[in-house]
Amino acid sequence: MTIWHATEVADALAALQTTPDGLSEDEAARRLKQYGLNQLAPPKKASAFGILVAQLNSVIAYLLVAAAVISFAFGDRLEAGAIAAVLAINTLIGFVTELRARRAMEALVDLDVPHASVIRDGRLVVIDARDLVPGDVIELETGRLVPADARLLTAAELGIDEAPLTGESLPVEKAAETMLAADTPLADRANMAYKGTTVVSGLGRAAVTATGPRTEVGRIGVLVGAVKLEPTPLERRLDALGRRLVWLTLGVAAIVAVLGIAHGLPIGAVIETAIALAIAAVPEALPIVATIALAVGVGRMARRHALVRRLPAVESLGSTTVVCTDKTRTLTSGEMTVVRVWAGGHDVRLDAAAASVPEGARESVRALLEAAAMASRVQPKTTDDARAWRGDPVDIAMIAAAERQGIDRAALVAGRREVGLLPFSSTRKLMASFRDVGGSVVAYAKGAPRAILDACRHGDQSSAQDLEAVNETFAADGLRVLAVATGRVAQPAGEALAGLTFAGFVGLADPPAPGVKETIQRLREAGLRTVMLTGDQRLTAEAIGRSLGVLGAGDRAIDGREIDARPPGAPGGDLAAYAAFSRITPEHKLAIVRAFQSRGEIVAMLGDGVNDAAALRQADVGVAMGRRGTDVAKQAAAIVLQDDRFETIAAAVEEGRVIFDNIRKFVFYLFSCNVAEVLVVLGSSVAGLPLPLLPLQLLWLNLVTDTFPALALAMEPAEGDVMRRPPRQPGEAVLSRAFITTVLFYGSLITASSLAAFIWAGPADVERARTVAFMTLAIAQTLHLGNARSRGPVLSPRRAFANRYALGAVAVSLGLQLATAAVAPLAAILHVAPLAWTDWLVIVGLASVPAVVGQIKKGSYLFSTD
Ligand code: ADP
Ligand code: MG
Repeated sequence: MTIWHATEVADALAALQTTPDGLSEDEAARRLKQYGLNQLAPPKKASAFGILVAQLNSVIAYLLVAAAVISFAFGDRLEAGAIAAVLAINTLIGFVTELRARRAMEALVDLDVPHASVIRDGRLVVIDARDLVPGDVIELETGRLVPADARLLTAAELGIDEAPLTGESLPVEKAAETMLAADTPLADRANMAYKGTTVVSGLGRAAVTATGPRTEVGRIGVLVGAVKLEPTPLERRLDALGRRLVWLTLGVAAIVAVLGIAHGLPIGAVIETAIALAIAAVPEALPIVATIALAVGVGRMARRHALVRRLPAVESLGSTTVVCTDKTRTLTSGEMTVVRVWAGGHDVRLDAAAASVPEGARESVRALLEAAAMASRVQPKTTDDARAWRGDPVDIAMIAAAERQGIDRAALVAGRREVGLLPFSSTRKLMASFRDVGGSVVAYAKGAPRAILDACRHGDQSSAQDLEAVNETFAADGLRVLAVATGRVAQPAGEALAGLTFAGFVGLADPPAPGVKETIQRLREAGLRTVMLTGDQRLTAEAIGRSLGVLGAGDRAIDGREIDARPPGAPGGDLAAYAAFSRITPEHKLAIVRAFQSRGEIVAMLGDGVNDAAALRQADVGVAMGRRGTDVAKQAAAIVLQDDRFETIAAAVEEGRVIFDNIRKFVFYLFSCNVAEVLVVLGSSVAGLPLPLLPLQLLWLNLVTDTFPALALAMEPAEGDVMRRPPRQPGEAVLSRAFITTVLFYGSLITASSLAAFIWAGPADVERARTVAFMTLAIAQTLHLGNARSRGPVLSPRRAFANRYALGAVAVSLGLQLATAAVAPLAAILHVAPLAWTDWLVIVGLASVPAVVGQIKKGSYLFSTD
């Protein structure tokens, strides 16, 4: 076994039977057969058996077993059997719903197909990272995942974030030439790159040493970049709430038992009723329905191209108050074009035709664009299509502009070998290519005007001011301005970048993407502010900000330099007053997100680059662009926008709100039904009436009227006003006082209807009276679903048919309830007595009361919502 980090590059290449120019396709195919795919074992899914066992290990299951045992002990075998059947059905329903929700969730999160840049047959190509083999020579680029374990061959400012592997949060500086001791720990192996880590700066080449399960991550078995199915805070709160309610329910059941015995009812029946009551009242579906609502919502988001990587963030979406977003390629289209240049005193607007450049300016413009093209870096073209360039859009725009002026970059590059490269970084804001021109080293640099001017020879003050004025006219035009400089330097390294000669300015148009302005407006109506963050200078930022409506006519952006000039240790909270930030670094982005958070805002951060990663992680909801986004940004984000459209963020916010709405609707429905069941039994016990419901009838209600309608609420579509109301307060209790009051109100209404029916039918024939109460309660609960379905009246044409699951659930519930009267064996088990048509009239009349009252109460919304 070769110890790669203790092996010279040449020896490593020999051991891998490869060269700096990589493998041939044939050899790679052969090795792929030998070594297998470069992928890790898939993460374990929740096992079906485990989910089944979890159903049986619940309070409800225990109570049902207890009830069955008691019926059996008191000699009622039929009832014991029926209870066992209830247990079986209950377990089955729980099992099926939970399994489906989990599988749906797992299917949604399984999404990343990583790619790798690799040299095959001497050409740099992009392949599915699973096809990498040992010996492949790969290119490591800023923003990309390291696709396999590899020994570095070259490295230019290569920084790798190895946190997933080593826990070390600072990027590690890599160097190819180093030789390390064999016992160097993983975290210090500067000449290696490991699968699952990310390149956060620079550029390098490396020879793959291990793939798939033989990589370090594969061996340790950590799940790098895996999507986590952690419970959301709300799920945890509901779980805790459910557990507390179990005790409350058991307390009430005990009271009912004591009262019953005091009133001289038979002990066996009383205990059974108490148990049945406890079963009916325990909100066992609470945690799973939250999961279902999340799964449904996450599925809807996926259909709208927002993929969720971290579930807890979905919940924050519903209460997001600020959207911080990178400007370039997020708010703008990212299709950059050079539209204006300044060179040798000439200010020239460029269009497609080379002839548009005035005769006198031609030479300086050509020199400028040549230098700009030399200072750019793109992957080789795979086809002749000009759009086939791959690389930074700024660099592509430079080369395209040069080509439009008839400059043949390939010919230029051929005569000037690259001997060094200073990659672009958002902190340094420039990049340079060092080339061998006739034996001496020439630097071609381009970058932000300030950064380039700093690297130029210091001329007289007046010309510096003139240049600043030119820069400002470009920026005020909304253009992204780059300066270009060249010059002979002592060595091909960043420190040598001084005393260059200024070549000119290049103005890039990067127009706002379609739909962005409207989305910003939509978000504003929903109570969300959009804040723009950019590395561009202030005038450019302000011009774009105004055209998008981020900034009002009189508002200004704040510059990174101004932020730095503030006294150290200033709290930073005042930054939250700005809507646009210019010339900022990744550190500023992080500080800005924190500043908003310190003001109690819930921040969604939208970005695509390595320079956004820290802020994406810090934000309450990190959102990355899926296609343009770097692997680093996607790894850091909780949500990935597959279509790269800013509008999708609004869709995600909307779905986030709907999820929370639906969980609330469900809790409301479930609680009001459970309250009614408890109050009906408790009320009659207190009043000394006979029991209005038999234990099996309670279990039936629990199974039939609660389950299906409640599940249907998770499917409820958005209310008309979701994006016209302010964000939900973060951490807002599900059980607010107003919420509890409403639950109690409807619970009491249903109780009153059922007890009224019971009293009307009794007391001469208890069995018939119970049947009437049983029917009234069941139908009242089913019709009450309408009250839960929307905040407005459900009978409006838009709403009534909006959720076919709800209509189906009502039909199924009513059908099953009527079956208890119509199907003889069922009627016998449930002690359902035959009823006269007058009884049915009273039942239907009283059962409609809660629904009618609810719809009238909501009628006041009639014209305000949907
Ligand atoms: P943003 O956060 O808006 O994407 P960046 O940090 O990418 O900003 O860029 C900031 C500035 O750096 C730009 O205004 C431009 O002047 C310069 N710049 C951007 N990309 C490049 C590049 N590829 N080469 C040289 N300079 C660049
Ligand atoms: Mg950028």
